[in-house]
Amino acid sequence: MNNNWLIPDLGEKHANTRAAVLVYFLVFTITILLILFAANSLIETQSNFPLLQFATLNVVMLLIFRYTKSFFITGNIIAFCVAIATYNLSLNTGGIFSEDTQFSYIVPLIGFLIAGKRSGVFWFIVSLGWIFYTHHLAATPEDIANFRNQILGYDQDYYLIMCLTNLFVICTVLYILSSQYHKLFDRLKKNKQDLEIHQKQLQNTQAKLEKSNRELDQYAHSTAHDLKQPIRTIYSFIGLLDKELQKSNSNPLKVDEYIDIVKSSAGNMNLLVTDLLEYSQLNETDSNVFGKVSVDDILKTVENNLKDLIESTNTKIEKKDLPEFIGSKVHLTQLFQNLIYNAIKFRDESRKPHISISFQAKESEFIFSIADNGIGIKDSHLTSIFDPFRKLHNAKKYEGSGIGLATCKKIVEMHEGEIWVESEEGKGSTFFFSLNKHLGKMHAQQELS
Ligand code: ADP
Repeated sequence: MNNNWLIPDLGEKHANTRAAVLVYFLVFTITILLILFAANSLIETQSNFPLLQFATLNVVMLLIFRYTKSFFITGNIIAFCVAIATYNLSLNTGGIFSEDTQFSYIVPLIGFLIAGKRSGVFWFIVSLGWIFYTHHLAATPEDIANFRNQILGYDQDYYLIMCLTNLFVICTVLYILSSQYHKLFDRLKKNKQDLEIHQKQLQNTQAKLEKSNRELDQYAHSTAHDLKQPIRTIYSFIGLLDKELQKSNSNPLKVDEYIDIVKSSAGNMNLLVTDLLEYSQLNETDSNVFGKVSVDDILKTVENNLKDLIESTNTKIEKKDLPEFIGSKVHLTQLFQNLIYNAIKFRDESRKPHISISFQAKESEFIFSIADNGIGIKDSHLTSIFDPFRKLHNAKKYEGSGIGLATCKKIVEMHEGEIWVESEEGKGSTFFFSLNKHLGKMHAQQELS
């Protein structure tokens, strides 16, 4: 909002600045005219220039602009009045020989500056016509003599006003041009900065792509290796089944047993492929899924999903008041669920499972920890467990595809954080992960730009 009553609020910074320039221009002219009028009255001389009429005209212009809020209407009315005044003066002060005819450019200048480009062009044509018209008026030697006699028709006040008006108009044009130049320069600077940001983002994306390619090679290798086992089992048991069925006295118990083994191996393959698919669909750069999330709500969902397991194992889950921040709800739920599920799955049967969840707010990140009193992990495996298909335990005792922690790592990286574990074999493990606190602001900025 403008505080100044005279300057209408046009709702846009650039338009408000233009409005201010116009109002100050008119106020300046009114002030000069009134000062001259007062000075003339004091020294009791009568200027032959219509000071008071011009001041009144400017006040009327101010009011027109104040109430129409239109540059087009106000600009064209001012240009019209100035045209009448200038052309009239030029006829009374020497026609084509008059300085006022030379100053005809003021009319289109006002058109361009206040009313707009088209109005400026219109008044340019009008002034051009006027100049040729005055030239035509001085066609005979009598006309020339007549015009030359008029040249000193006005007193010093008239010349003062002309000088000041010209000075003000020219300076305003220069001021506007130089501020536009600065704006252009600022815009160029901003474009350069944006370009640098985009370049950095491109480099980041490229680095992520390269990393993802390396990971993909590793997964392809691990998947092939892990899928080989059930395939080998299926292949050999189908052979045994075939032999058994070819016997005249085939044993139905054996047949059932072989079919069960084939089924279970096919089930394992299915689990592996499903987990792998889910894992490969996690996209680190996908920001559409980001929104406000409450960790308390996420934990409620996870406890509900794992209700049966928590109750059947008598697991106690202890948690502090947890924060709200910007992240991907679906993925963070998966992250907490995988870690809590593992904490229960790798429990020590000799004691009741106890899980403690807490967090620390640092300057730029939240650090969460999920501690259990389970079987623990050997020091030598503390980093490798985050690789896909890495299982440290007997597949019969703890079934799983070995992809849970690799998924957790990918989700944490999506939130620009890190995941790590501290553990003591036989006592328990604590999984830590950090999440970028300002990720929400960054995503909002990216969307804006
Ligand atoms: P999965 O559970 O399917 O085997 P994960 O990627 O979730 O695969 O875990 C990888 C390995 O890390 C597990 O096989 C297990 O040996 C070890 N591990 C994970 N979480 C725990 C935990 N809370 N306590 C002990 N060992 C764990």
